[in-house]
Amino acid sequence: MLKLRKKKLKMAELIRLMKNLDQEVTKCSRCGICQSVCPLYDVTKQESDVARGKLMLLKGLMRAFFEDPDGVWQRLDRCLLCGACAQNCPRGVNSVEIFLTARMIISGYKRMPLIKKIIFRHLLSNPKFFDRMVAWAARWQYLFFKNADLQIDGSCTAMVSPLLSNRRMIPLATVPFHKTSSELTSTGKSTGKKVAFFTGCLLDKVFPGVATDIVRVLHFHEMSVLIPAAQGCCGIPSLASGDSLAFNRLVEHNLKLFDPSGFDYLVTGCATCTATIKKIWLSMFESPSEEMTAVLHQLAEKTYDISQFLVDVVGVQPSGSLPETAGCPIVTYHDPCHLRKTLNIFSEPRTLVRVNDSYVFTEMPDAASCCGMGGSFNLTHYTLSADIGKKKVRNIETTDASVVATGCPACMIHLSDMLAREKKQIRVAHVVELYAEKILPQEFL
Ligand code: SF4
Ligand code: SF4
Repeated sequence: MLKLRKKKLKMAELIRLMKNLDQEVTKCSRCGICQSVCPLYDVTKQESDVARGKLMLLKGLMRAFFEDPDGVWQRLDRCLLCGACAQNCPRGVNSVEIFLTARMIISGYKRMPLIKKIIFRHLLSNPKFFDRMVAWAARWQYLFFKNADLQIDGSCTAMVSPLLSNRRMIPLATVPFHKTSSELTSTGKSTGKKVAFFTGCLLDKVFPGVATDIVRVLHFHEMSVLIPAAQGCCGIPSLASGDSLAFNRLVEHNLKLFDPSGFDYLVTGCATCTATIKKIWLSMFESPSEEMTAVLHQLAEKTYDISQFLVDVVGVQPSGSLPETAGCPIVTYHDPCHLRKTLNIFSEPRTLVRVNDSYVFTEMPDAASCCGMGGSFNLTHYTLSADIGKKKVRNIETTDASVVATGCPACMIHLSDMLAREKKQIRVAHVVELYAEKILPQEFL
């Protein structure tokens, strides 16, 4: 059996993390390049919101953490973790990992709020219990939520609207993907390649149709598909909230289900899950054993975003025939931060979209800029999140697109909300949905 961790996180470990962090922070030369790419600074114009400002705060790390942990937390919390600063930093300062580690240190030093403990340690860390809770919530959701698809208000919406800030919600699926899939699915004329599918919470519970399309597309390309039951969250919401304990538990849980020796590739349809498995599991899991480090490396190498897998591994390309442009609907593409900035994946999803020649592809201005979602940032700083989202809507509008494609379910939720708020009739689709619509014959639908 895989030996996972050398030891538990202790105070000595916190101090070691702080010292490492101090060294990382001093790499910053204060050049200010990160200011020009930070989507948050773009709307607030506050130096404390940009990576440079946060790194300066962390310079007197030890003192600041012990004297004013809440103040440090509040400053660090105003960040989308979009990675634009890290991607463009000439000194190679990985601000996202610095902020994640700093949040982890603060949470390790002071008590976590009870509500966070309940959410991360008792709900998200127990996938079966989480599934049951979400199924219960799905039954009652229409009483509370405004709906991004149907534009209707629930009878209790007014009661909870201060909490929901007038969000237009994509409803939870009444039947999540895991209820419809079996563990190992095969086409019968398989190439012999086995692909493990990491579903992720949002594709499972909000967009099961996208998850189903991924499996159908893999079958179409003659892959056997392994879908382990009781998959957990990738752990990034816990880590972003500083809860390393819940993050470590989730990584351990998922590693037991996804042994890389049992498949050739692992694919996901979620930009955030892909980036987390490829980068964050390796860099942020606390004190992994040597054996576990080797397994995490293997898994990172085998993990692909679905568009990257279809284009780079399967060899999917557009036919080359251009659609009639007159009267042809337009599709544009929004780059999820975790694909573009963390993994440098941007041509493959565009290639996949271009396969569907029922649309004319038109690039929007600033497609790589963040949509404003930022995971829990959207929950805690919705006004800022919406201000950033409005800019994205303007950019989408300039293309006259009837469809905006992307590769991240979290971006899909925020884009749908932003477009619905402004009453724009623009469909938000996952790139794999557009690909499936074009290539799948009837028997796969
Ligand atoms: S771009 Fe890098 S070196 Fe320059 S201020 Fe930002 S974090 Fe510091
Ligand atoms: S991660 Fe994004 S929002 Fe946060 S400081 Fe860097 S550029 Fe700004």
